[in-house]
Amino acid sequence: MLENFSEGLKGAIRKIIGKPSIDEKAVEEFLKDLRVTFLQADVDIEIINSFIENVRKKVLKEKIPPGFTLRDYLIKVVYDELVNILGKEASDIKGKKIMLVGLYGSGKTTSAGKIAYFLKKRGKVALVCLDYHRPAAADQIKQIAEKINVKYFIGKDAFSVAKESLKEEKNYDYLIYDTAGRDALDEELAKELKELGEIIKPDEVLLVLPAEIGKVAKKQAEEFNKLVGITGIIVTKMDSSAKGGAVIAACSITNAKIKFIGTGEKIDAFEKYDPKRFVSRILGLGDLETLLEKAKEVVKPEKVEKIVEGDFTLEDFLEQIEAMKNIGPLSQIVSMIPGLGLPKDLLKNQEEMMKKWKYIYQSMTPKERKNPEIIDESRIKRIAKGSGTKEEDVRNLLENYFKVKKMIKSFGGIKGLKRGQLQNLMKQFGIRF
Ligand code: GDP
Ligand code: MG
Repeated sequence: MLENFSEGLKGAIRKIIGKPSIDEKAVEEFLKDLRVTFLQADVDIEIINSFIENVRKKVLKEKIPPGFTLRDYLIKVVYDELVNILGKEASDIKGKKIMLVGLYGSGKTTSAGKIAYFLKKRGKVALVCLDYHRPAAADQIKQIAEKINVKYFIGKDAFSVAKESLKEEKNYDYLIYDTAGRDALDEELAKELKELGEIIKPDEVLLVLPAEIGKVAKKQAEEFNKLVGITGIIVTKMDSSAKGGAVIAACSITNAKIKFIGTGEKIDAFEKYDPKRFVSRILGLGDLETLLEKAKEVVKPEKVEKIVEGDFTLEDFLEQIEAMKNIGPLSQIVSMIPGLGLPKDLLKNQEEMMKKWKYIYQSMTPKERKNPEIIDESRIKRIAKGSGTKEEDVRNLLENYFKVKKMIKSFGGIKGLKRGQLQNLMKQFGIRF
């Protein structure tokens, strides 16, 4: 059994990335994993079906755009579909009255402070405490408000404080309402929240969900949505949990998008939602941006290591040249090392050349592929004949392979790179230090 949604997603993605190449069967297997993961996270069956069907249609039935391998495209399509649910872009706060709702301990009061701090640059802000079930709640608001220097409303009960804030509404650009943490089964609190919503008529109702929330995300979202109507989601504690995937169920149920991410206890540990960063995290991919924007080649981590050491086979080399237009590790290293250029012509007529090189490779014996050093003139003749290419094409491939390999080795491979450069490189391929 998969432990949670993100783990499931990451596992499925890892399986795909771990394979040198994928086919239709691998895609179907991936979709099966995805379905299980979604089901376990309690995502609505209709949402699952349409998600899976969309991915299948785009990846297997439509033409794959140039520059993409099937695997890269699959990941990109999954990303696009996720972003459709979670939010395509950072959406801003709309209106004046912002109400935060969520379970006890989810991070509402902390987030209220963070939003106040964030909005302070734009106008006059007041924090309004509507939590009179927990004795220390009003104090917590007061402390935060004083620390960041914004006004606050506290009193004896939620209704009178709400009304008081509305009387002074015109004096503020933003009123941020922090509500009591509640158990959705608690009827009294549910009733209170509903009535407060009716009095305040908030422009935004933000549901605060901690990243580690599991299956209950759906139920929470459903209940809060019914009570007050959710307009956006704040995912807190993204610093302490790399999960966050269950939020998909909440987003799809409420049709609300993620607005903010909480990344720590401090007042400024708060980010606007960024789809690429968020989805990279829940998919467990270090940096999706590169893949998404330039259709870069995703390479196996072990392979990256081999390549940065200058320790690659002829097959790796061919794969890299193919990825060169995009950004295989080889071209990355080369671009990071000053004064190191790839042999000219390597990228000229690339497609034409690649075709020939692949035929040549196929005509080699396993022994020759593994040890291209043994390829002498008589072998060159045989390979050229077998592959329907010229002898000079075979020589050209071998020369380039040895040249690039020597170049990287002479530079010291991995040791020749500065630590920061190396980290960037590794990050590109999702390897964390
Ligand atoms: P509330 O009951 O929903 O109002 O939750 P609080 O705002 O009081 O937060 C509960 C706990 O979670 C506190 O200890 C906060 O410091 C902590 N917390 C809130 N947001 C974050 C976050 O983004 N990251 C981390 N690490 N802790 C957070
Ligand atoms: Mg609170």
